[in-house]
Amino acid sequence: MPIYRDCRDKPGNDNQQVIVMSYDLIVIGSGPGGYVCAIRAAQLGLKTAVVEKNATFGGTCLNIGCIPSKALLHASELYEEAGTSFAQMGIKVGKPSVELPALLKYKEQNVESNVKGVEFLFKKNKIETFHGAARIVAPGQVEVKDGGGKTQTLETKNIVVATGSDVARLNGIDIDEKRIVSSTGALDLTKVPQKLLVVGAGIIGLELGSVWRRLGAQVTIVEFLDHILPGIDGEVARQFQRMLQKQGIAFKLSSKVTAIDTSENTLKVKVEPAAGGDAETLDADIVLVAIGRVPFTEGLGLEAVGVKKDNRGRVVVDGHLRTNVAGIYAIGDVIAGPMLAHKAEDEGVAAAEIIAGKAGHVNYDVIPNVVYTFPEIASVGETEEELKAAGIAYQVGKFPFTANARARANLATEGFVKILADAKTDRVLGVHILGPDAEAMIAEAAIAMEFDASSEDIARTCHAHPTLSEAVKEAALAVNKRAINF
Ligand SMILES: Cc1cc2nc3c(=O)[nH]c(=O)nc-3n(C[C@H](O)[C@H](O)[C@H](O)COP(=O)(O)OP(=O)(O)OC[C@H]3O[C@@H](n4cnc5c(N)ncnc54)[C@H](O)[C@@H]3O)c2cc1C
Repeated sequence: MPIYRDCRDKPGNDNQQVIVMSYDLIVIGSGPGGYVCAIRAAQLGLKTAVVEKNATFGGTCLNIGCIPSKALLHASELYEEAGTSFAQMGIKVGKPSVELPALLKYKEQNVESNVKGVEFLFKKNKIETFHGAARIVAPGQVEVKDGGGKTQTLETKNIVVATGSDVARLNGIDIDEKRIVSSTGALDLTKVPQKLLVVGAGIIGLELGSVWRRLGAQVTIVEFLDHILPGIDGEVARQFQRMLQKQGIAFKLSSKVTAIDTSENTLKVKVEPAAGGDAETLDADIVLVAIGRVPFTEGLGLEAVGVKKDNRGRVVVDGHLRTNVAGIYAIGDVIAGPMLAHKAEDEGVAAAEIIAGKAGHVNYDVIPNVVYTFPEIASVGETEEELKAAGIAYQVGKFPFTANARARANLATEGFVKILADAKTDRVLGVHILGPDAEAMIAEAAIAMEFDASSEDIARTCHAHPTLSEAVKEAALAVNKRAINF
């Protein structure tokens, strides 16, 4: 295709208009990986542009992921608390009720303010933005096609692919986002379902299942594996499942959904044992398919330029986030590793720094993971199962929130902190927290691990009283069997 330096040179049809502009870096995708990468690159003096195919910036995380789900989790948690523990603390509010349209509006406003924030940051950092679908036509050339079919070609020294992920689908089951929904539809239900069936007991299934259970739905979660939350420390996952069952969520483990009959008002969901056997049929108003996410590279033109992908469709990168094609990098959900916003952000920073000739780096051993349910789960580093499989000898220090004064004052004593430390060196190898505000406490563990702390280092660090984080200190003391309050 001929490249016209200026659209005025190009004869004919507006829809084929080609304009060339030149950049040091073009980032494709404006999710947490892409927008953070662009900002860091601009800070380092690179002439940077971002291409985003959606109408708003911020990607999955800000539009249909982290932010809207946390808004619903926060509001529904307060609703439940108002109806349960307020009275115990002497606060009379009567029976709370939910006005769903107002709740959804609060969530939308939250999304909007975050999305606008990204737009503001792009302007502040003088990052040029293009709305349209990007395709890499050659190394150093990105074609952008907008919604009206207009095409422009941009020239660049470097490209970062940050196109994220899409929902994984079940064979033979159509997600219509009305009755059979993905997480996107489950964030926008206009009526509380009477019966919600969730397929998949991973983080998204448990978080959104919790939201709708708190708002009044009867929730059943069907999981193929014999345990919930794959990848989370087994002891934590088992105890957490019991807590969720006490809250009213039903589980069908070692089971698979094989078909959904949509012909009647009530969905008829066929559930079979994972290992095969007799099927049963469960009724549901809404089915949420939450079996994971898959990397998204559709229409990007990676095959044409020879960028390698692995057998799961993820873009293959080396330790410097470089693909096999010079000048093309990839970050975030589209490459291997945990599909988490903060992992994508850190890779965005590292990629920008590497492109600018600096020593960008991501420490994959210290990526915290949070399940924002009640109680929360937060973990960083190795699980007991992983340490056993690797043959690493370790000590365990555990401290329950029942013995923590602040948790008792907050009427939230479920759960514990568990620290795994190397048996020989005492270096902290993993921290697992099941309890209130685990999301905040895990940062301390991550910093400790980033600095190669021992459990003794945490144990000898003064922690304010009365705080939930004293449970972290006590768990560290418990590694050497000297917890004070338990
Ligand atoms: C319901 C839900 C809740 C979640 N909660 C959390 C959480 O609490 N914490 C957490 O860490 N993670 C959470 N996640 C995961 C998190 O959203 C992702 O890990 C994160 O968004 C990945 O960032 P990314 O930049 O790689 O991609 P994305 O955020 O997916 O952004 C990719 C962007 O690229 C754009 N794009 C794709 N192809 C093109 C193209 N050809 N041209 C132009 N633009 C293109 C897309 O439109 C999109 O905007 C959640 C996910 C979901 C679905």
